[in-house]
Amino acid sequence: MSNMPTIKHVRAFTLRGGGADYHDQGGGHWIDDHIATPMSKYPAYRQSRQSFGINVLGTLVVEIEASDGTVGFSVTTGGELGCWIVEKHLARFIEGAKVTDIEKIWDQMYNATLYYGRKGIVINTISGVDLALWDLLAKVRKEPVHALLGGPVRDELTFYATGARPDLAKQMGFIGGKMPLHHGPAEREDGFKKNIDMLADMRSRVGDDFWLMLDCWMSLDVEYATRLAQAASEYKLKWIEEALPPDDYWGYAELRRNVPRGMLVSTGEHEATRWGFRLLLEMGCCDILQPDVGWCGGITELIKISNLADAHGKLVVPHGSSVYSYHFVITRHNSPFAEFLMMAPKADEVVPMFHPQLLDEPVPVNGRMKASALDAPGFGVRLNPECALHRPFPR
Ligand SMILES: [Mg+2]
Repeated sequence: MSNMPTIKHVRAFTLRGGGADYHDQGGGHWIDDHIATPMSKYPAYRQSRQSFGINVLGTLVVEIEASDGTVGFSVTTGGELGCWIVEKHLARFIEGAKVTDIEKIWDQMYNATLYYGRKGIVINTISGVDLALWDLLAKVRKEPVHALLGGPVRDELTFYATGARPDLAKQMGFIGGKMPLHHGPAEREDGFKKNIDMLADMRSRVGDDFWLMLDCWMSLDVEYATRLAQAASEYKLKWIEEALPPDDYWGYAELRRNVPRGMLVSTGEHEATRWGFRLLLEMGCCDILQPDVGWCGGITELIKISNLADAHGKLVVPHGSSVYSYHFVITRHNSPFAEFLMMAPKADEVVPMFHPQLLDEPVPVNGRMKASALDAPGFGVRLNPECALHRPFPR
């Protein structure tokens, strides 16, 4: 270990000239087409998530350079705020440490930010640093990140697709399709009927055996979500996702008791750290945990969340996040499949989630990805040099 490199420098960037993150899509993209949200009760913010600012944070790129010249990096959501936290606060715990000091650096970052952190942007930023540290260590060792996590437990990943067109996802070989819910409680019975009609129409297109799920993006209340789940069971809804605001643990517990037998409740993409997920597990809030590795605390925290879930007999199917999720999912028995976010505007073809920011990003073929597609060192991706970076707080 004495010859392990040390960390020379950490740098935090945003992307110059837009392309903030995957939410930052122009008009007509399915991902911003009247999707139900907690802001849908205000008609002025109902049509577009960009209208209430879903894209204001922007991308955070963290780059960490070791004394031997190896560079690890990551991409998550955090923008200039994330850059500030990295450069003004977290850098002191990173620079000068050994590249193997991942656990210690995480603990110092988390404890030093407790007085203003715990969730949200601070944990996004800690996640970004953590992912860059795993990328760096794996590159120093010339191994893929999954090798550091215990290695693959299966030969390939299988995927469900998130997007507006599960019928096309089925043709593309995915095992299921998850659609956004379009109408929240403020749109009353007319909206409720449209929600069910969409599900009924899609069920008729995909046949009986294809998984269909609904992503409610925190937009409902227990009463509405319960009625939706009951009406959706006729169309064999596999799971109802993130039906309630993430702080309503009591509501999730009630919803899970209310849903028809066999239907699953999933949530967690806006939850963070082992303590947040412990609440979801111990209160009986859901059947599937969906941490986002770029928001929940990084790989270091996802290991703890996943182990806790495993001991509770629960699945962990991380939210999106491409390679940052794939390297984890392939190493875990309680993560039997993965999510693929359809970033094509009409959800009609497979395109890399982080295009154009990343190069060499693997994508599913026929809804599957061989473990061997994840064999390059680190997370196996490169920053696209054509995407100009901006470092707002250089030191
Ligand atoms: Mg979701």
